[in-house]
Amino acid sequence: MLEKRTPIPVSEAMEKCIQNTRQKEIIDINYLDSLNYVLAEDIIATYDIPMFNKSPYDGFAIRSEASDGASGEKRIAFKVIDHIGAGTVSEKAIKGNEAVRIMTGAKIPNGADSVVMLEQTVATDDGFTLRKTFTQGENISFQGEECKRGDVVIQRGTVINAGVIAVLATFSYATVKVYQKPSVAIIATGSELVDIKEKLVPGKIRNSNGPMIMGLCKDMHIEVNSYHVKADDYDVLFKVVEEAMQQHDIVITTGGVSVGDFDYMPQIYKDLKAEVLFNKIAMRPGSVTTVAVSDDKFLFGLSGNPSACYTGFELYTRPVIHKLMGETEVYPTFVKATLSEDFTKANPFTRFTRSDLDFKTMTVKPSGFNKSNAVVAIATSNSMIVLPGGSRGFVTGDTVDVLINRLSTGNGVPW
Ligand code: AMP
Ligand code: MG
Repeated sequence: MLEKRTPIPVSEAMEKCIQNTRQKEIIDINYLDSLNYVLAEDIIATYDIPMFNKSPYDGFAIRSEASDGASGEKRIAFKVIDHIGAGTVSEKAIKGNEAVRIMTGAKIPNGADSVVMLEQTVATDDGFTLRKTFTQGENISFQGEECKRGDVVIQRGTVINAGVIAVLATFSYATVKVYQKPSVAIIATGSELVDIKEKLVPGKIRNSNGPMIMGLCKDMHIEVNSYHVKADDYDVLFKVVEEAMQQHDIVITTGGVSVGDFDYMPQIYKDLKAEVLFNKIAMRPGSVTTVAVSDDKFLFGLSGNPSACYTGFELYTRPVIHKLMGETEVYPTFVKATLSEDFTKANPFTRFTRSDLDFKTMTVKPSGFNKSNAVVAIATSNSMIVLPGGSRGFVTGDTVDVLINRLSTGNGVPW
């Protein structure tokens, strides 16, 4: 008898995945190797930044008071008594109309309370003149204005980017605590599949899902082990899934999760005694996407149809990987945009359609051929339109949610 599956909403399916995810263990790593890992500790300022009042310009440190009354007609003269570059400190304290020639980043000398930019002066034999009055604190970078010793400057759960590495260097975090990354296995199933170098004879198709998932994982900077395509043979499949589970945190299979005669994945979950979180989602494409867990291991049964496979990865696998890696933000990014084309086909399930989002105008339209078996649209689109399920279609001008997948298309330099 055919098993009856009850569809659950996308948000509930996503939530079930996230609820069942534990973060990976914490490891110490050299800060230069920490790029794209996630911080497992708060980064705390170990001193004030700036550490002392300093000059943001090349110029002269003066007492602002001495510039009172300066104008074009009445230039005021200053005598330079010392000259310091960044990294050196003046031992002299300035008085009256004295000044210290100072370079960007150097410590403000005692007695000075403002900095005159080089461009604002006219040189004299022993110094310079200026035509403008300065106020106390003008052109000074103050101690602690960016952050103070003890401040949490970057929170645990943040992905380490180049800026974070700069902060680690600033505060002497030579090693830093991060979450270990998960490892992923990808197994493409289906007797019709052939790998890239095999002969493509009638009835066969290329395995595109396996390499695509590999690309998606590599894009997330995680290890992925790709198994050879597996024919729809229960014993072979069971063995390879079981083996992959021993070695990886996540096992992704594509194909074979539906109710066809050779769809063996549901039986495999049963025999592995894995807890199936869901096996039917109120979404198109990919309603049969199945997720199961067993001893902290995740099994993602993604649909064989390429677009459905991609959608399943983006909605369920990606957030789980983010959480395993220790990220605080695990949900996808979506924006509101205006439809620039009609989409009249109604569906009771939430529909995810590959799309081209124009970031300049925030308008969006479906991207080329878009059925669930489409491959090319995955490559050429930058987003997915999310259309809520219901009895009506959507028309030009409607506001829709758009899930952003890729930001790599430039759109000019207007400034
Ligand atoms: P299935 O989910 O096994 O019912 O497969 C659904 C459809 O996706 C079928 O037309 C398959 O031929 C196709 N398909 C399955 N696996 C792959 C794959 N790895 N690459 C490309 N297409 C696939
Ligand atoms: Mg199949």
